[in-house]
Amino acid sequence: MDVIVAGSRAELDEARAALGIGARWGDRDGRTLALVPTMGALHEGHLSLIRLAKEHADHVAVSIFVNPLQFGPNEDFSRYPRTFEADVAACRTEGVDIVFAPSAEEMYPPDRQVSVSAGHMGTIVEGAFRPGHFDGVLTVVLKLFNLVRPSVAIFGQKDAQQLAMIRRMVADLDVPVRIIGAPIVREPDGLALSSRNRYLSPDEREIALALSRALHEGAGHRTPWEIVAATRQVLDAAPLTVDYVVLADPATFAEVADDHVGEAVLAVAARVGTTRLIDNVIVTLP
Ligand code: AMP
Repeated sequence: MDVIVAGSRAELDEARAALGIGARWGDRDGRTLALVPTMGALHEGHLSLIRLAKEHADHVAVSIFVNPLQFGPNEDFSRYPRTFEADVAACRTEGVDIVFAPSAEEMYPPDRQVSVSAGHMGTIVEGAFRPGHFDGVLTVVLKLFNLVRPSVAIFGQKDAQQLAMIRRMVADLDVPVRIIGAPIVREPDGLALSSRNRYLSPDEREIALALSRALHEGAGHRTPWEIVAATRQVLDAAPLTVDYVVLADPATFAEVADDHVGEAVLAVAARVGTTRLIDNVIVTLP
């Protein structure tokens, strides 16, 4: 069956029914559905999530929605890349069953009042540089969950704090969706794939390689202090503006203490020209 493109709630319900998926959430007698939420401008990173989704459910839905709620007033909402036809074609090639691409009007009634608060965790690290961002992310993701009603949802480790926040929301609000994290897909030279890489000029792309190089350098050290210092040193040598370098607990995003043992996420954000990039790597402290 060809991919079904749904733009409204009604079309989404029809698409679910056409696949034989029960109307109730997590319908166990019916077929299972996985959701891959995206903002479109699909690349190999997104496609890896779709492939992982297929391993975990009978059917796959991809949502494409550039969520105005998660962009700050001076961020790139209006110029964010929109490549809808190519995205649908890529979904078709990957065997996606449903593309859900609502308009902002479909998602947000003009009289909306209530939204999800990301709590303290939404104000630290990435949240400190993007006030309100995680509230916007969690609000749209919960709405997408309520509309699509998947049994599983796939998110990339690329947005490590987002993944942690979504796990937290699902636990705190008893959302019946299993969350699966997917590894970061990189270019052969190390650059993490991102829809925002399209903004980079060839020179800027070269400079942007400092992020993955810095993480690689940092991950080679043993103590939190050395790891962060080594990462920062590589970034400081490049013509970019560092927002943060942090070694954090992967579940809470609190900075780890210097005697921390076990897994931690080494996360960076930097601006190359006008483009803001994030990247991270998981390190294990002995
Ligand atoms: P976005 O369209 O940027 O909102 O991303 C949609 C999903 O794709 C999120 O769960 C991201 O973490 C994930 N994603 C983006 N880039 C990558 C990548 N390079 N590798 C793996 N997942 C990614």
